[in-house]
This record gives sequence, C-alpha cells and structure tokens, in this order.
Amino acid sequence: MLLQTQRELVVEYGKKLVTAGLTEGTFGNISVFDRARGLMAISPSGMDYFSTTPADVVVTDLEGRVVEGTRKPSSELDLHRLFYQRRGDVNGVVHTHSSFATILSCLGWAIEPIHYLVAYSGDQVPCIPYYPFGSLELAEAAWDAMGERYNGCLLGNHGLLAVGGSLSFAFDAAQQLEFLAKVYYHARLAGGGINLTPHQLQAVLGKFQSYRQQ
Ligand code: 13P
Ligand code: ZN
Repeated sequence: MLLQTQRELVVEYGKKLVTAGLTEGTFGNISVFDRARGLMAISPSGMDYFSTTPADVVVTDLEGRVVEGTRKPSSELDLHRLFYQRRGDVNGVVHTHSSFATILSCLGWAIEPIHYLVAYSGDQVPCIPYYPFGSLELAEAAWDAMGERYNGCLLGNHGLLAVGGSLSFAFDAAQQLEFLAKVYYHARLAGGGINLTPHQLQAVLGKFQSYRQQ
C-alpha cells in the first residue's frame, strides 16, 4: 500500500480528533503530505473515525486525483491540497468543528491577539465568510485569508482550519486554537481583552521555535 506510515498517522490522529473533543461524529478531516512523492493521504469522507483503518485512507495527488484507495476522499480535498501545492512548509492539515472555534466562525469574529497562543496561527486568527463545505470557493477563500502568513483560520459558519509542518504540529495548532477561541469568546463577553503588542508576539514566535522536545 502506498504511504502506509502516513495512512497510519491519519487513522491515529482521526481518533485523537474525537477523543480531544475537537469534532463531532464523522465531521472534520485530516491529511498528511509526502512531499518527496507529491502525494497526500487524506481521511475518507463521512466515515466513523474509530472504524477507519489504514486501508480506508485515500491517497491522492495534488490535482485531487485518487491514486490509491477504495473510499471516497474527504469532501474538503481542495482545502487540503491547495496548502500543500502553494506552501513548501506545510505537510499536515487538520479541519475541525470544535465548539468555540465554530461559535466564533458563526459570529464572524476573527481572534485578536489577547493570549500568546495566538502565535500558533500568527498575529491573529482570520475569519472568512461562509462558503459551502467541500467547495473550491471555500478552499480559495481560506487560502486568500491565510496565505504564507497564518497557520489557522475560522471558516465562516462552519469551523476551523489549521496547517503545520507535520500532522502533529497541525493537530497541536487545532487544539490550541480551540482553547484560544474559548478564551477569546469569554473575554469578549466579559468586555474585551488586552491585545499583545507586535513586539511581544514576535518574542513568542521566537520561543516557539524551541518549545517542543526535539
Ligand atoms: P468529510 O467527511 O467529507 O471529510 O467532510 C466533513 C466536513 O467537515 C466537511 O466540511
Ligand atoms: Zn467541515
């Protein structure tokens, strides 16, 4: 089977998506990119994460053509592949319907830098308007908002998108941005929050380079 290791990662992180409370039912999706082969392993569409095996994971090229797999790939194929095509630093993509990120996406509130964990995305977490799920318009709008600058985005009236250098980093970003969304929502309800300065955020980005165990 092509991309066996990446398929196993998609299965493992799919279960984590549910156990970490980052999505509901079969919604959300994840993928890993094998840059050397130019292929990605993506979760199958509408399939229970705990029933998904490595053989159910779909391998596609960056044009979205299925190269190996019997299942239908995630409907958000475009949302994943655009980032692998256009950014050399992205090798993992996670899309969730986590509660507070989704609430903010329904309110149309981008997340301001009131807590240092915003640095998982950049100096904010942008929020785009609503586009139908699985549409190229949604993928292009997320790309326009994030580009090279942000690793996270709120998808209007829908959920969250997080990208990273690996699936592990993209998952961390999705988890921390959900925490941030919860903090931001409550801070706004309490009257606001104090924004960090660009200088303070820059220092956090520097520390993040060496934060995790190597
Ligand atoms: P898939 O099950 O097709 O991956 O779609 C779920 C989803 O969250 C669509 O936005
Ligand atoms: Zn979705």
